[in-house]
Amino acid sequence: MNFRLTGEQELLRNEAQKLAREVFKDRAARWDQKAEVPWDNIKLLAEQGYFGLLIPAEYGGSGGSIMDLALVLEQFGWACVSTTMYVFSSNVHANRIAQLGSNEHKAKYLPEIAAGRVLPCHAMSEPQAGSDANRIRTSAVLDGGHYVVNGNKCWISRGAVAHLFLVDVVFKEREKSEKGLLIIERGTPGLEIGKIEPLMGHRGSPSTELLFRDCRVAVANRMTHGDFQSSLMSMSLSRCCNAAIALGVAQRAYDEAVEYLQQREAFGKRLADFQGLRWMIADMAVKLDAARLLIYRAAVNATAGFPSETEAAIAKTFANEAALSVVSDAMQLFGANGYSCAYPIERLYRDVRGFAIAGGTTQIQRNLIARRVLGRRR
Ligand SMILES: Cc1cc2nc3c(=O)[nH]c(=O)nc-3n(C[C@H](O)[C@H](O)[C@H](O)COP(=O)(O)OP(=O)(O)OC[C@H]3O[C@@H](n4cnc5c(N)ncnc54)[C@H](O)[C@@H]3O)c2cc1C
Repeated sequence: MNFRLTGEQELLRNEAQKLAREVFKDRAARWDQKAEVPWDNIKLLAEQGYFGLLIPAEYGGSGGSIMDLALVLEQFGWACVSTTMYVFSSNVHANRIAQLGSNEHKAKYLPEIAAGRVLPCHAMSEPQAGSDANRIRTSAVLDGGHYVVNGNKCWISRGAVAHLFLVDVVFKEREKSEKGLLIIERGTPGLEIGKIEPLMGHRGSPSTELLFRDCRVAVANRMTHGDFQSSLMSMSLSRCCNAAIALGVAQRAYDEAVEYLQQREAFGKRLADFQGLRWMIADMAVKLDAARLLIYRAAVNATAGFPSETEAAIAKTFANEAALSVVSDAMQLFGANGYSCAYPIERLYRDVRGFAIAGGTTQIQRNLIARRVLGRRR
């Protein structure tokens, strides 16, 4: 396995790092404090082509790899999670369309997503179906050339601002009933954007309910290869990318802590000279490196558009928990300043928490890993 970055990847990472540090870093507190959508950043990202990293060149993207995306997400996550989540969803959901959609879906939506004119989101969770995604009930009943969609979705990240919804539904056609993905455009009669859920973190990326009431959607919007198993499998890319952003947040907390320990003094010496604190920093460095290598492995081994389910689950589990631990330790090293809203650590602490729940909890990832090792439970 070769993790050495190509010259192009180094350039891509360095450019993303520059944008993150020179522009996104100082704006991050604003989106968080006001729970404001980072439109200025979204505009910039669209202009610079970051929404089309994974989109094939023939559809207006740059045809990059999952590794390219992971490198960029880590850099942006370092500066501003709210902003990064838009790069995440445009690329991850465009990839779903590229891999599971029809040629018509690709031609219609991918160039718009690449240009940042269409923001997509994914709607799977329902009040009774989170980890147990098989229990979704939102139905799509065939009626002539349309499906009639009814049901409620919840926790839909960026649902309040998205133009395109990739919705997991139960298709009902005569006697047949099967789950799969349906593309629904904003403004379709019968689709109502519900209340915005106030969140602890990711506050510039509003989470909403979606309410479908006799919402008529053309049969052609059913994703060609979007059966439920494929929809679940496609989560492996979300998981790998979720892990990369969590890693970026943890790297930021670590960088802040390293700098702080070298400036702050106690008992007549720098905090950086206390053995116990030096070992904390060493443990944080070990966790960051290990998480990064697991993410890189899942990314470089990806075939047919998605990382392997098991490698993505391993990377997500380790990176999510390593990130929680690193950010928590950084807060401890900052003392009261870590708990203060005048420093960035408390925002990182709130932002990093969501990654171990979103995209399938770390418990569910362990179930996937154990199933691969031991087979299904009897
Ligand atoms: C920041 C954020 C963004 C999100 N964005 C989206 C989105 O864009 N689209 C979307 O569809 N959803 C989204 N979600 C919802 C997310 O997918 C669910 O929250 C997640 O799948 C868990 O479901 P739940 O909240 O219903 O918890 P539950 O399923 O009720 O689980 C509760 C607890 O029980 C554990 N548990 C459940 N079943 C098992 C089991 N079999 N074995 C062991 N432990 C188990 C879970 O790990 C968890 O700790 C988001 C959530 C968050 C926090």
